Amino acid sequence: MSKNNPSPRIVIIGGGVIGTSIAYHLARLKARVTLIEGKNLASGSSGACDGMIFLQSKKPGIHLSLAMESLKRFNALQKELPFEIEFKKTGGLVIIETETEYQAMEKYVKKQQAIGLDVQLLDKTQTHKKEPLLSTSIIGSTFSPLDAQVNPINLTLGFAMAAQKNHTKIMTGTKVHEILIKNNKVTGVATNKGNISADLVVNAAGSMAGLISQMVGIHMPIKPRRGQIVVTHAGKTILNHCLISAKYIAAKYDPALADKSGQGISMEQTDNGNLLLGSTREFSGFNKENTLSGIRGIIRQAATVLPALENFQVIRTFAGLRPFTPDGLPILGPVKSLEGFIMAAGHEGDGIALSPITGDLMSQMLLGKKPDICLDPFSPDRFLQGRFEDKGGI
Ligand SMILES: Cc1cc2nc3c(=O)[nH]c(=O)nc-3n(C[C@H](O)[C@H](O)[C@H](O)COP(=O)(O)OP(=O)(O)OC[C@H]3O[C@@H](n4cnc5c(N)ncnc54)[C@H](O)[C@@H]3O)c2cc1C
Repeated sequence: MSKNNPSPRIVIIGGGVIGTSIAYHLARLKARVTLIEGKNLASGSSGACDGMIFLQSKKPGIHLSLAMESLKRFNALQKELPFEIEFKKTGGLVIIETETEYQAMEKYVKKQQAIGLDVQLLDKTQTHKKEPLLSTSIIGSTFSPLDAQVNPINLTLGFAMAAQKNHTKIMTGTKVHEILIKNNKVTGVATNKGNISADLVVNAAGSMAGLISQMVGIHMPIKPRRGQIVVTHAGKTILNHCLISAKYIAAKYDPALADKSGQGISMEQTDNGNLLLGSTREFSGFNKENTLSGIRGIIRQAATVLPALENFQVIRTFAGLRPFTPDGLPILGPVKSLEGFIMAAGHEGDGIALSPITGDLMSQMLLGKKPDICLDPFSPDRFLQGRFEDKGGI
């Protein structure tokens, strides 16, 4: 930072939805930004995921409040970004298969309503009225008209293109292999295309953010959590809403439950008519392969819940790596022990939904403003100071 130009030089590592959203929001504030991506934009989790903006799956508390704020920004983004992001307010259903789940969801909905989420518990008849092709074994659901969908790849590319139009430098095929430090202060990054100077380095490397932190000797407990997805051919509309099963919420927050009672299912039908059926939640290192058992589990559960699927053909499968953190919240903000090193990663299965608010708040913080929502609950220090137990291991 010089006296003539007080705006910091900012390097963002990672061209996923989080890095590009931060770049976009910074560019609007006329910041000096270079975004560095090792492969291509959206080549990580942001290009291998669903596009649900599912408020109901967020834990009541700061997580849900953040998601509600993020949702408000999608309407404007649809107009501002130079890409059709296919944002649709479909409304979403959490489908319930057992009495035990029904009782659990009854309590969960009360907590969500207390925070101000528009959500209601539906009985079997009301559920089938909303989704007539669901199996008759579904005994109820919870419904929120606010749940929505977006095309995650177009969203990422849209953020990047809009940032570029506002003078952000985007370098793809550029891998960061070292963070440069002088007197315990970040001075830039070393890449396969040479060194790039910076006052602030933002670690938005998704499931690989832990590896970036390791470069400066800091342990951030971000682990890759694989999700496999099955894609069908584009057929006629058989789903009116995006949909997840109640089990899916349990599996998201408690890996032990996922092992015991199954992972549940998520489903959405895209603008083209393809169905995305997903997705597993597995810890298998950085392995992005599809497995027979994973795909079989998804298809079996999906066909049970939505028998009309038998008329659809599977055209492809893929897998992505969610950036998991032990408390389910992203890690956002400066690492106090190393000046200029900033975290923006660990959104697990919510990065698409949370990208607009993350970019907005991080851009405020990076330019020395007070963020509209306090970022303290997301601070990296909660792990570094032992405020939260990290069970370790990838
Ligand atoms: C199966 C599945 C379904 C999902 N469904 C949803 C959903 O419905 N809704 C939702 O909100 N979220 C969903 N998610 C989660 C969402 O995909 C992620 O939270 C989000 O994409 C994370 O974005 P990111 O930018 O942090 O990471 P990424 O998209 O992974 O981007 C990180 C980038 O950093 C780059 N990088 C890493 N190391 C380096 C380096 N050394 N140098 C340069 N670049 C580097 C990588 O190449 C990568 O492109 C899903 C995820 C999966 C896997």
